[in-house]
Amino acid sequence: MSQPFSHVIGIVGGAVSGSEAAAIAAERGALVVVIEQNARPYGKIEDGLPRWHVALRKKEYARIDDNLAHPNVRFVPLTKLGRDVDWATLTGELGLSAVVLANGAWRDRPLPASIDAFNGRGLAYQNPFVYWFNHQLDADYDGPRFTVPDGAIVIGGGLASIDCVKIINFVLYGEALRARGIEVDVETMEHEGLPKILADHGLTREALGVRGATLFYRRRAEDMPLVSADDGSSARAAKLEATRVKLLTKVLEKYLVRFEPLSSPLAPLVEGEGESARLVGVRFGKNAIVDGKLVATDEVLDVKTELVVSSIGSIPELIVGIPAKGELYVWKDWDSGALASESASPVHGLGNVLTGKGNIVESRKSSKKVMAQVVDAVLAQPALEPAAVARIEAWVKARWDAVGYRGDYRAWMGAHPPSA
Ligand SMILES: Cc1cc2nc3c(=O)[nH]c(=O)nc-3n(C[C@H](O)[C@H](O)[C@H](O)COP(=O)(O)OP(=O)(O)OC[C@H]3O[C@@H](n4cnc5c(N)ncnc54)[C@H](O)[C@@H]3O)c2cc1C
Repeated sequence: MSQPFSHVIGIVGGAVSGSEAAAIAAERGALVVVIEQNARPYGKIEDGLPRWHVALRKKEYARIDDNLAHPNVRFVPLTKLGRDVDWATLTGELGLSAVVLANGAWRDRPLPASIDAFNGRGLAYQNPFVYWFNHQLDADYDGPRFTVPDGAIVIGGGLASIDCVKIINFVLYGEALRARGIEVDVETMEHEGLPKILADHGLTREALGVRGATLFYRRRAEDMPLVSADDGSSARAAKLEATRVKLLTKVLEKYLVRFEPLSSPLAPLVEGEGESARLVGVRFGKNAIVDGKLVATDEVLDVKTELVVSSIGSIPELIVGIPAKGELYVWKDWDSGALASESASPVHGLGNVLTGKGNIVESRKSSKKVMAQVVDAVLAQPALEPAAVARIEAWVKARWDAVGYRGDYRAWMGAHPPSA
């Protein structure tokens, strides 16, 4: 007979932050229902982190698996909030003690509308681009496909934009080397760097004739959010700037990337008309730093390219029912992650969806901090009636039947393994 549960918490998203939150609540005796839109719960570990992070992915997969295999956790795969269950059902009709949003940030912040209009016609966004890079070799891959032309450019300035330029160059140099009968995998390219690999084969960038990727950033190398600090003292700020320049310089040298600072995308360069119109480049406006402030100058720079990858930030997806203002959900209190929602079940957010920080450690930290408060509050509530718990369990069972899940997390994952 299953354990009689008195409190049930629903979690949306089963990746780093959702699985960590699930384990925390499960350890304290609550029943936890984790709904996950995909078959596997690995989120950005599988679909964001580029596939050369082999050891890190393996470690994070194992931790997520351990969390979700807890006997008090009911994993509900292939179940998307907003598609398979709506907000009113999840936060009202189901009668959950609390709902936790751990659904990350999967919407790419759009470029200016005039350029965004060319999405899929010369413009790609980071999230689908990295997803393609990670999954293109899967036997059942049916997602978006990209061709990477020489001279592709990336617009952005964070860590993910660095990954995008690396992906472009690994594809380009991988192809150029393969054309000479030399096979080098991406892990080796990432680990050893391109100049060393070329030198080992008696080659140079010029001999291969690869131009490679260029990163366009609106500020300077010193301002790139590659590392940050909580303490804003001026001594610390100067050190931080030097570290950023050092980090970027290493990327430019090790992966043969070009960099164009102080450039903001202004307008598309287009060829063709109507349906056949295609983005063939971007007009950038040049900026300057005056008295520490970024100002636009009159100078423009027209850059021709067959592919623009935009990596200017990931923001939460809008879901009907979740209060949102601008790019973000409306949080009542950032510390507890409480959402400004009128729903019957209290709703909190944690991880990337709350912090906006694309970082595993930060997601886990946020999860622990918020979930401790959520579980305290939930366990202080009166116990749910057994019939109320049974209704939630029946809903879970109906979803399991709909997606073919038999209630055994390890067996399901064995049947749905990630690509190697
Ligand atoms: C290119 C790139 C490189 C990165 N490199 C690093 C790195 O080197 N080091 C590092 O620390 N971090 C890195 N990160 C960031 C890191 O991977 C993420 O910040 C972290 O894994 C986020 O964890 P999370 O659980 O908060 O969110 P996510 O991993 O986004 O998990 C959200 C989960 O919710 C699910 N979900 C979303 N919407 C719904 C819905 N409507 N219904 C049901 N389920 C839903 C998703 O499928 C997913 O499983 C990188 C990210 C990217 C994109």
